[in-house]
Amino acid sequence: MTIAIVGAGLGGLTLARVLHVHGIEAVVYERESSRHARGQGGMLDIHSGQRALREAGLVDGFHAIARAEGQDMRLLEPDGTLLWQEDTPEDAPLLRPEVDRADLRDLLLDSLPEGTVRWGRAFASADGGVLRFADGGSATHDLLVGADGAGSRVRALLTDARPAHIGRHVVELGIPDIDRTRPDLAAMVGRGNYWVLGDGLSLAAQRNGDGRVRIGLGFHRTAEDWIATSGIPFDDPAAAKARLVDLLAGWDPRFTALIAACDDVVVPRPITALPIGLTWPSTPGVTLLGDAAHLMPPVGEGANMALLDGASLGLALAAHPDDHPTAVAEYEREMFERTAAAARMSADVHELLMSPDAARKMLAFFQPG
Ligand SMILES: Cc1cc2nc3c(=O)[nH]c(=O)nc-3n(C[C@H](O)[C@H](O)[C@H](O)COP(=O)(O)OP(=O)(O)OC[C@H]3O[C@@H](n4cnc5c(N)ncnc54)[C@H](O)[C@@H]3O)c2cc1C
Repeated sequence: MTIAIVGAGLGGLTLARVLHVHGIEAVVYERESSRHARGQGGMLDIHSGQRALREAGLVDGFHAIARAEGQDMRLLEPDGTLLWQEDTPEDAPLLRPEVDRADLRDLLLDSLPEGTVRWGRAFASADGGVLRFADGGSATHDLLVGADGAGSRVRALLTDARPAHIGRHVVELGIPDIDRTRPDLAAMVGRGNYWVLGDGLSLAAQRNGDGRVRIGLGFHRTAEDWIATSGIPFDDPAAAKARLVDLLAGWDPRFTALIAACDDVVVPRPITALPIGLTWPSTPGVTLLGDAAHLMPPVGEGANMALLDGASLGLALAAHPDDHPTAVAEYEREMFERTAAAARMSADVHELLMSPDAARKMLAFFQPG
């Protein structure tokens, strides 16, 4: 029985690892040419996903790379009022530590036998048990698992659903080596998450393990074509940054200083999601996990769900090694229910973030009653 996993992201690698722990080998096909081909982005808040890492036998390795102090939180209003500050005590349990996405992916990659991941193999199509790759190559499989992320190509084998814009764009920027270049701003942002929530606009800054502070400027209630119609010259990053500073007119000058200190990498992204509670009829020989199955607003659940999906499918296949349809049906039942609840909760938090009085609502969330 050959298990082919398309995508060496967090979900696909967790599945391969849990299968390996149970003596089942799988092949992971990844379109990127190597593990270093693309930057893996910033920090992830890992909470429920720790259960999956335990199943994968990697919880000690996870604790070695997790940053407890990344749980720190500061919440402010655009005029500079500090609404909430929470600093993580030295001996705090690792309930929701932050981890560098690249470190977590490396932990998973290093836990697999050499050759499990076939780099530079971009899935193009599947037909009658044969996978076809963009480079013209092919491979056979008994079970195909689409773990190929938000823009999944495997998804079309099971459903017509596609991610849709959900009214928010984020412009990503960052300050490299902030402790050396801008210690004043480093102290302001602190060790973890720094949120400024305004009406129609938000700023989220977060310290990364490599000393970079990543900043996301969130534009709310945007149309799908906002990148082209916003009037921000994204093809000229220095001019785009200057325009973003202008758009923060009326905000505390410390926040505009934060944007002005960023380097010239300015990346706008639309936020998209799949329908909440998406399902498909169980189909022999193919299934999905992670963002491919249930892309949701990025409020801290997606990576956790991808890890749990990988572990859930791995355990189901280990329980029914000669009966993939039963294993897949068992996995899909559990996954659909768990991820629909997470998607609903993520959509609620996303709505809260986009509401005109988001800062006060978020404060009420931290300070109930
Ligand atoms: C800014 C941001 C912050 C986030 N923060 C958090 C957080 O704090 N906590 C949290 O839980 N989640 C967070 N998420 C969500 C999380 O990153 C994703 O949900 C998670 O990475 C999904 O994992 P995955 O394995 O499904 O997909 P990915 O990690 O996207 O992996 C998919 C893999 O498939 C490969 N691939 C794609 N197409 C093909 C193809 N045709 N052939 C072969 N390979 C292919 C890709 O190259 C990639 O390696 C955040 C997301 C964003 C955008």
